[in-house]
Amino acid sequence: ALTIGIVGLPNVGKSTMFNALTKNQVLAANYPFATIEPNVGVVPLPDARLTRLAGMFTSERILNATVDFVDIAGIVRGASEGEGLGNQFLANIREAEAICQVIRGFVDDDVVHVEGKISPADDIDTINTELILADLQTLEKARPRIEKEVKGKRAPADQLTAIDAAVEILESGKTLYQAMQSDNFDVTELRELQLMTVKPFLYVFNVDDDVLADEEKKAEMRALVAPVEAIFLDAKFEAELAELDEEEAREMLESTGQEEAGLDQLARVGFDTLGLQTYLTAGPKEARAWTIPKGATAPEAAGVIHTDFQKGFIKAEVVSFGDLDVNGSMAAAKSAGKVRMEGKEYVMVDGDVVEFRFNV
Ligand code: GDP
Repeated sequence: ALTIGIVGLPNVGKSTMFNALTKNQVLAANYPFATIEPNVGVVPLPDARLTRLAGMFTSERILNATVDFVDIAGIVRGASEGEGLGNQFLANIREAEAICQVIRGFVDDDVVHVEGKISPADDIDTINTELILADLQTLEKARPRIEKEVKGKRAPADQLTAIDAAVEILESGKTLYQAMQSDNFDVTELRELQLMTVKPFLYVFNVDDDVLADEEKKAEMRALVAPVEAIFLDAKFEAELAELDEEEAREMLESTGQEEAGLDQLARVGFDTLGLQTYLTAGPKEARAWTIPKGATAPEAAGVIHTDFQKGFIKAEVVSFGDLDVNGSMAAAKSAGKVRMEGKEYVMVDGDVVEFRFNV
């Protein structure tokens, strides 16, 4: 599964948030093939469409798509030089598909800040710097080898150009992901180097509840990381929410004036940051969301259910959730001409409700 690695300086609330994530995690029974590991939180992606589908198809159960979060142990200044858990830390990050940095915004004199003061901008800088330094080392090491390969015409010259451009970006203090977001920097030629800062990033500001309601303060923090996505939550509050049952949690959330739990937001933004979307299937057994990359074709989507579905793909019967919802049933959607037969070339759209036809 695709995972999002949670990183951050010590004492910013990572464990608190991660514990809330794991308490919130889907019942293992629903996911017989999911291995439960202590440092992985499998979090359901909230999706109201599934409830509606389950009603329409009288499905026995609902299976949400999930997002996997991995707790990556402490980074400190100097990690790229092997300080603290440095090397292990970098190895763990390499394995994650995206990185989520938790940043301390809450004020609490009883909780020591590792750098002596609460400054989101400095915290972001500290982590970025470690990842940037690690990438610069990787690039420096790779350059002579690739230079030789280019001379011997065993590698495209573009690769060398890309390395030099990447070094320039990193030396200016920017991550490659930032450059991809703001300047369309193309990392195709750098893929094989497994750089850290090309990974999609998202930021979680762990803040007090008064900040959650303060749009001006949030805008200030958001500006620190733009155009990269930022979300705001109160980790302590989220941990309390995760202890409650669904009904109680909803009431508690409403009492604070929040529309969506922070962890739900995190799952949603994380999913999107990973470049993923879902399509839906429904029947008497289950209403279910399946995870596919944006841009996946119908046979690729079928392959997520079973490789045989992809190999023997004939066509897909597709109706958008919106059309199905409006018409109230599959039969009504069909009479209204909203159910389409799509072939091999069809590119899936988020929320497509699908039934595949295939040869076995
Ligand atoms: P980690 O080192 O980043 O994993 O941080 P922890 O989750 O262990 O949190 C460090 C301390 O900060 C603990 O005493 C938490 O109870 C406290 N803490 C975490 N989140 C919040 C928060 O949102 N508000 C306040 N006031 N304290 C928090």
